Amino acid sequence: MSEPAPTDPRVLRLVAGEVSRRLGDNVRWGVYDRSRRTPLNAVLDLVSERVVRDPVLIWVDGGYPDVFTFPGLPSPVAVWSTRHLEIASAVRNLVVGEAFSNQRRELSARTMLSVMAELCLRAGHEREAARLLLLSVRGQDWFLPHSGIVMDLDVASIDEAYVAIWCFALAHEFGHHLEDGGSPDDRTLHRMVLDAVQAMPAIEGDPELFARVVADLQGDAAHPLRAEHLRAEVAADLFATETVIVASHELMSASGGGRPRDGRLIAEIVIAHTALSFIQRCRAVAEALNTRDDPLTWLRVLQMPAGSAVRSDFTQWYLARALAGLTVGESGSDNSRSLEAAVESVVGQLSPAVDVIDGGMADAMSTAISPQASDSELLRDVRAEYRQTGHYSLLRTENRNFIALAQALKPSEPLLSAVVELLS
Ligand SMILES: [Zn+2]
Repeated sequence: MSEPAPTDPRVLRLVAGEVSRRLGDNVRWGVYDRSRRTPLNAVLDLVSERVVRDPVLIWVDGGYPDVFTFPGLPSPVAVWSTRHLEIASAVRNLVVGEAFSNQRRELSARTMLSVMAELCLRAGHEREAARLLLLSVRGQDWFLPHSGIVMDLDVASIDEAYVAIWCFALAHEFGHHLEDGGSPDDRTLHRMVLDAVQAMPAIEGDPELFARVVADLQGDAAHPLRAEHLRAEVAADLFATETVIVASHELMSASGGGRPRDGRLIAEIVIAHTALSFIQRCRAVAEALNTRDDPLTWLRVLQMPAGSAVRSDFTQWYLARALAGLTVGESGSDNSRSLEAAVESVVGQLSPAVDVIDGGMADAMSTAISPQASDSELLRDVRAEYRQTGHYSLLRTENRNFIALAQALKPSEPLLSAVVELLS
């Protein structure tokens, strides 16, 4: 690995100005130091080799659960919050943790509601944020820890899981700066989207709804499931997949961790993709909640899993090829067949848990959309539970990021003030 180059100070000044404009005043952030020899810098070096220009990582301490990149600057910039890292790690634990197997669906729904609550705060939708937070904790008996875990992630030993957690989402964002190579082509993507939409339980057997989706898809060039947009996501996913594979070989051998095992790498990449899609869906639904009355919004939310399904298919297809590319020559023979079988087997083992998590997300969406209870009923319920149960300290610990974000906003909405008062 070569020594990372420090970023041009003029570029940094320009970036800093733009980032502070986008993130607002109440979020702590900094430019990641490229001169140190760290696992993240090794990943940024790999990005730099492929994307050419020197990448800049903006590191947000806490903040909103999001990772994003934006064009128009002389270097590719990704803004990544420790909150995004925590949620991605929590989703990973939800997939693999045996302890959660009986509560997986419920915990998936609760996690989605609380992530959407934080994202609604960012958009300034205080009442929606407060309602989502109350819905996420009402009647809660089981907890998926998702707060204050960054330190644990930082000191974990470097293995396949470590590299996937630290690298997949970040590499995906930088992957958006790759040139559009035109592959997969428009026809293939369009056909796969329509197949995936048609296979969705909500749309299967409802030709009228399917026709509305097709009309929407054809009528709007900005539709997220249009081939050009989906191709950018697929390309970013494949770049992330390749980066995790190469980085785990480099980082594990440098740290004495040995050679990554194919089965573990496959599993961790599939899980990292699931976690990234989870948070992306939270973001899309949180945005949709703010344009509730537009019927098109709900049609789009309904179709979202089709986009995730197409992307997962490509990631899984590419995994075997990327792993085979790395091992060809080492053994002298192409082992892509056995790797394809390995991918199929790992995906088969993970999919029951991933499907349950998807079900939880569908529950969270209907909970968020349908007005199940008035504001005062929700608040009354959560207050009463807080008095009766011994979960209060857990409720406070797990929701401290939301409370910190809400307090920094100095809320004007009475419901949000009441939530802050109850949980702080
Ligand atoms: Zn993306």
